Amino acid sequence: METKTDLRSLTIEEIKNEISAMGEKPFRAKQIFDWLHIAQVSDTAEMTNIPKTLREELDRRYRISDIKIAERYVSEKDNTIKYLFELENNIIIESVLMRYSYGNAVCISSQAGCRMGCKFCASTVDGLERNLTAGEMALQIYKIQRDIGERISNVVIMGSGEPLDNYDNLLRFLKIIGDGIGIGQRHITVSTCGLVDKMKELAKSELQITLAVSLHAPNDEIRKKTMPIANRYGIDELISAAREYANKTKRRVTFEYALIKGVNDSRKNAEELAKRLKGGLFHVNLIPVNDVKENNFLRSDEQTIKDFAAVLSARGINTTVRRRLGSDINAACGQLRKRYKDNLPLISAENEPTEE
Ligand code: SAH
Repeated sequence: METKTDLRSLTIEEIKNEISAMGEKPFRAKQIFDWLHIAQVSDTAEMTNIPKTLREELDRRYRISDIKIAERYVSEKDNTIKYLFELENNIIIESVLMRYSYGNAVCISSQAGCRMGCKFCASTVDGLERNLTAGEMALQIYKIQRDIGERISNVVIMGSGEPLDNYDNLLRFLKIIGDGIGIGQRHITVSTCGLVDKMKELAKSELQITLAVSLHAPNDEIRKKTMPIANRYGIDELISAAREYANKTKRRVTFEYALIKGVNDSRKNAEELAKRLKGGLFHVNLIPVNDVKENNFLRSDEQTIKDFAAVLSARGINTTVRRRLGSDINAACGQLRKRYKDNLPLISAENEPTEE
C-alpha cells in the first residue's frame, strides 16, 4: 500500500504550505503545480526549472499519481469516445468524451465503484472499491485532452461513483482544474443521488458549479424501490435542498429522471412530479433508462416518454429528453467497466444501436 501523499492531488496553496515547511521559496509551488497540471508530467525529473535538490526532496516525500488508457472505443454513430482507464493496483474506471456544438465535454468518474446501491445502476453492483484522488479525477481530463488533441471545455461528474460521497477530494479537484487548465466552475456539473447534507454544504461553499440531482421518482414510495438513499432522505427535503442551492447560486438545478417502463413513467407520476417541482429554478432531464435485464427494468416506450415530457411542459416545468450518445459502445453508467471486470465481451450484439 502506497502511503506517500500524491503531489498531483494538492492545490497550489497546499503545495505552498508543504514546501514552505521544507524551507523552500513559495514561488516554487506554482512552478511545481504547472508542471503537474499544465505540462502534466509524471516524473520530477522533467521539472527542469526546479533545482535538483528540491526534486530529490519531493521524490522522497511524495508520489505523483498517473493513470493510463486501458481501452478506448469510438462510437461510429456520434464520435462519442468511451475510455477505460487503469489506475494503480489494476483498478479500472471509465470516462466518456461527448462532442457537442458548444465544445467537448467529458464525463468523469469520482469513485471506483459506488456504495449507493441504486438498483438500475451498473456502477454499484460490486460496491465501492475506493475513492478517487483529486489527481485521478483531473487525469481523466488530461489524458482525454491529449488523446484527441483538442480542448475540453466542459466537465460532468456523472461517471461511476457518488461525487458528494468523496466530497473533500471533489472540492480539491475543482480548485485544481480551475487553476490548472482553466475550466471554470460554470462549466462543471456535479451529479448526486441526493446526499442532502452535502448538498447544503455545497450551497454554502460559494461555488458556481451546476448541480444535477438524480431523482428518478415522483415520490418516496417509488424512489425507495430503486434508490436506497431515499430511506435516508425524504423527497421533500431533497427537493428543498435543491431549491436552496438554486436560490443561493442563482443556477438552475437539473433533475435527472430515468424513465423505467411501468415503474415511474405514468401520467399520474408526471403530474405528481410537476406538482413537487413547481416554481423552482429547475430543469428536468428525462433519460430513457438503459435496460437492466437482471432487475427487469426496461426503457419506457417512445410515446410514453413524449407524453411524460408533455405533461411536465404543460405545467410549466422546463423539460428535455436526453439524447443517447454512444449507445453502441456501452457508453452509459458503468456498463463498460462492469463488463470489463466480468470478462464479458465489451461490445455485444445486444447493445447494437436501436434508435436515431
Ligand atoms: N452518483 C451520481 C453520479 C453518477 S450516476 C448520481 O447518482 O447522480 C450518473 C447518472 O446516471 C445518474 O443520474 C444515475 O441515476 C444515472 N443512471 C445510472 N444507471 C442508469 C441506467 N441504467 N439508465 C439510465 N440512467 C442511469
